[in-house]
Amino acid sequence: MELSPPRAVLRIARRLEAAGFSTWAVGGAVRDRVLGRSAGDWDLASRATPQEVMKLFRRTVPVGVDHGTVGVLEGGRMYEVTTFRRDVETFGRHAVVAFADRVEEDLARRDFTINALAWHPLTGELLDPFDGRRDLQAGVLRTVGDPGERFAEDYLRVLRALRFAGHFDLTVEAATWDALRAAAPHLSELSAERIREELVKTLTQGWAASRSLELYRRAGILEVLYPELAPLAAERPHEGEPDLWTVSVRAVDSIPPGRVRLRLAALLHAIGMPPARTKDLRGGWRYTGHEVLGGRKAEDVMRRLKSSNADIERVSLLVRHQSDLFPPDAPDAGVRRWLRQIGTELVPDLFRLRFALWRGRNPEARTQPEDLLERCAKARRVLRGRPALATRDLAIGGGDLKALGLRPGPLYAEILENLLERVTDDPDLNRREPLLELVRSEWSHE
Ligand code: ATP
Ligand code: MG
Repeated sequence: MELSPPRAVLRIARRLEAAGFSTWAVGGAVRDRVLGRSAGDWDLASRATPQEVMKLFRRTVPVGVDHGTVGVLEGGRMYEVTTFRRDVETFGRHAVVAFADRVEEDLARRDFTINALAWHPLTGELLDPFDGRRDLQAGVLRTVGDPGERFAEDYLRVLRALRFAGHFDLTVEAATWDALRAAAPHLSELSAERIREELVKTLTQGWAASRSLELYRRAGILEVLYPELAPLAAERPHEGEPDLWTVSVRAVDSIPPGRVRLRLAALLHAIGMPPARTKDLRGGWRYTGHEVLGGRKAEDVMRRLKSSNADIERVSLLVRHQSDLFPPDAPDAGVRRWLRQIGTELVPDLFRLRFALWRGRNPEARTQPEDLLERCAKARRVLRGRPALATRDLAIGGGDLKALGLRPGPLYAEILENLLERVTDDPDLNRREPLLELVRSEWSHE
C-alpha cells in the first residue's frame, strides 16, 4: 500500500532502518492517508532509543526523551520519532511506560482501532492488528481492547472518541458508547489543560465541529465539564425556532475553523439566557440582561479551563457585547459613539459573531441578513473616515492647553473629553484652530 509520505519521512525511516532499527509510520497520518485524506503530522515509531536517534541525526530536539520522543529536523520540518512503548501500569491520567521491542506492542496501547495502524515507509506494509481499516471503511469507532478498561486508563480518551467520531463522521460502536457514557462522571478528574486542549482541537478540526459537540451532549459530558451549556438544549426562546443549543453549535460551524475565540464565543453566547429568563406580559419569554450575565459566565468557563488572559477577555467581551449593535437607522455620530464604546478592535469579530448567530438561527436561508450587512457597511464607511475615537486622536493635546495658560490637572481630561464629544458629533471640528478657539472662548477663565 502506498501512502505517499513527505520525502523527509522516507529519509528518516531509511536511516533508522539502515542502522538496524525497525521503524514505522504510526497514528493520525496513517489513518488519514488510508482514508485518502491529506495527513497532518507524520509520526514515526522505532525500535531505536532516544539516545540512538539523537546519535543518528545531526539536528534533533529532545521533545520528551523520558517518554521516548525525539524531534528530528528534516526538510525544514520536525518529525517526532518515538521509541516503541508498552504500558507497564496505567491509572487514570498517568501511565508508566517501558520501551518495547516490537511495533505490535506499541499499537496495542493506542486508543482506538483507527489510530492503531502502522505503515512501513520502505516496504509499504500496513500493519493492522485490530482491524482499524475495516472500522474506518464501515464508519465505526471502537477502542482497542475492553472499552471500560481503556477509558479508565485515561479518561481523556472519552473526549478523543467524541472528537474522532464527529470529525470522521463515525458511529461509536455500542460497547464503546456504553463504556464512554459510564466514564463521563470521571472526566472531572482530568486537568484543565487537557480538557481545554481537547475542546480547542474539537472546535478547530474541520468545519463540522457541531457533530462532536452534539456527541458531547448525548454522552452526558456537558453536565460534567460544561454545566452552563447543559440547559441550552431545553431552552426555546420562540415557538417554532430551534433551541439554543442547536443555534449555538450551528453558529460554531459557520465560523472558519481557525477562529478559535470566535468559535468559543458562539458556543458560549447563550449561557446567560436560561438563568435570565422571565415571563413577559404576553406570556412569552424575555432574557433581559442575559448578555452581561453570559459574559461573566463565559469568563468563569474560560478561567476554569485555565485559558490565557487574552482569550478569556476576548471571548467574554464578545459574549457580553453580542447584542450591542447600533440601530439600523443610527446617524453617523451614533455609529462613532458606538465605536468609542465597543472599541474598534472588537468590531470585526462582533459582526462575524452576529452573522454566525444569524446563520445558527436560519440554517436554511439562502439570503444574507440585509439589515446586518447594511450596518456592517455603515460601520466600515464611518471607520474609513478615520474618526477621532479617543482624546489622543484630537488635533490638540495637553501641551496646547498648557500653552494657553491653563493649569494642568483633572481639568485637562475634562476639556479633552468635552472636545471629543463635540468632534464625535462634528468630525470637521477636529482641527487645531477651531479646537483652540473653543478652548479659548469657554475655558480661558479657569
Ligand atoms: P490528530 O489528527 O488530532 O493529530 P492523532 O490520531 O494524530 O490525531 P495525536 O493526539 O496526535 O492524535 O496522537 C497520535 C497517536 O497517538 C494517536 O493516533 C494514537 O494512536 C496515540 N494516542 C494519542 N493520545 C492517546 C491516548 N490518550 N491514549 C492512547 N493512545 C493515544
Ligand atoms: Mg497527530
